[in-house]
Amino acid sequence: MEESNKLKGQYREFKETKEQLEARIPPELLDKYAKMKKTRGTNIVAKVKDGVCLGCKVSLSSSTVGRLYTPGIILTCENCGKLIFLVVD
Ligand SMILES: [Zn+2]
Repeated sequence: MEESNKLKGQYREFKETKEQLEARIPPELLDKYAKMKKTRGTNIVAKVKDGVCLGCKVSLSSSTVGRLYTPGIILTCENCGKLIFLVVD
């Protein structure tokens, strides 16, 4: 029972975090995500690490990687077409 309450608490925290994150995402990006989800399914977002799209493991051009640093910009992978986000460690 105690374990179950703990899980419920974690779920609530997770849900709150998700809502907070969504509030920070530009509406046009959420809109684009919703449209892509309809046509391409759920696996449409990929992280970018060290200039490589982790969705398809292909190196992105330096101009694309450079543009990833621009706040609010929406980019898709040149190879797999997923929405890409920069991961900074
Ligand atoms: Zn890709």
